[in-house]
Amino acid sequence: MELVKKQLEQLKKKINKWSEEYYVIDAPSVDDAEYDLAMQQLKALEAQHPELITQDSPTQKVGHVVSEKFAKNTHKIPMLSLADVFSWAEVENFNKQIAKVTGTLDNVYYAELKIDGLSISLNYENGHLITATTRGDGVVGENVINNVKTIKSIPHLIPDQSHIEIRGEIFLAKKEFEKINEQKLINQEPLFANPRNAAAGTLRQLDSSVVASRNLDAFLYYYFSWDDQSKILTQSDALKEISAQGLKINQEGRLCHNLAELKAYIEEYTHKRNALDYEIDGIVIKFNDFSLYDKIGYTVKTPKWAIAYKFPAEVKETKLLDIFPTV
Ligand code: NAD
Repeated sequence: MELVKKQLEQLKKKINKWSEEYYVIDAPSVDDAEYDLAMQQLKALEAQHPELITQDSPTQKVGHVVSEKFAKNTHKIPMLSLADVFSWAEVENFNKQIAKVTGTLDNVYYAELKIDGLSISLNYENGHLITATTRGDGVVGENVINNVKTIKSIPHLIPDQSHIEIRGEIFLAKKEFEKINEQKLINQEPLFANPRNAAAGTLRQLDSSVVASRNLDAFLYYYFSWDDQSKILTQSDALKEISAQGLKINQEGRLCHNLAELKAYIEEYTHKRNALDYEIDGIVIKFNDFSLYDKIGYTVKTPKWAIAYKFPAEVKETKLLDIFPTV
């Protein structure tokens, strides 16, 4: 038991350090695959010894404490993470858990690309963008509205006059990331490790003119009306509504009526991912019907009605990254 406790402490310490580097200072020292592996080891140990799970374990927390650089906003609805799965067998297992609530294995899912960026929550009131907040630790995030206002695909005004919250992912297209790193190379500055890191580092810049110069982009995928949730009952309708309000949705998402369609979608985008203009690290699978979300439920960290199917890690190195250090 003492050995297990020691292993748990070592894993937690390592993961917490990596989380701080990734979420707070935007400078990861290890790649996602190494992080994911350590997290899987921690989950496996905790599953064998549930009595040793502590509230401060990274398996029980979203993100990391936010930096002091920005003012803070509290999310009215927590911004959760997603449970990861790494195989088709685990997707089938997820469907079996859903079937316990729906009574059938034939469930309808909305499959979306998992954009490798950072999540953002936007609140609109009377048609005006009033807040833009990073996920942070899921409860409290950073107020980045001045920076978000420089992003062309996020309107400052929308037709809907009620109070709505729209969430999604801010990202940098691959070619924009390359342009930034080329400039950094000329300036002999440390390079960004990848587009996700560059997007996070850019959005959390204090100088909005730098943000404006970097062409951040956004795909939105979550809609919540504070005044009337009754008109939007499914994820497919939520996406249509987001689009109708003039915000950008990812066009590659697909309604899958059964597991065969879902499997075909995952296989299709496993092959297409490198041809996309932006990086994705998996597929997000969402149960389409909102009316059962509360019944399907939540863990402290993730909803149970959605999962992230993660692609196998790719080894990618560019010439630039070979020569110069990264941030
Ligand atoms: P996650 O990134 O695995 O999944 C949750 C996030 O997916 C959401 O918060 C949302 O921002 C995003 N997302 C993208 N497209 C989406 C869509 N269509 N619908 C819904 N959500 C979508 O979980 P996480 O908790 O943000 O981060 C954990 C992951 O981050 C790890 O698995 C690892 O890959 C990476 N990480 C890496 C390091 C490192 O040091 N390299 C450190 C910490 C975390």
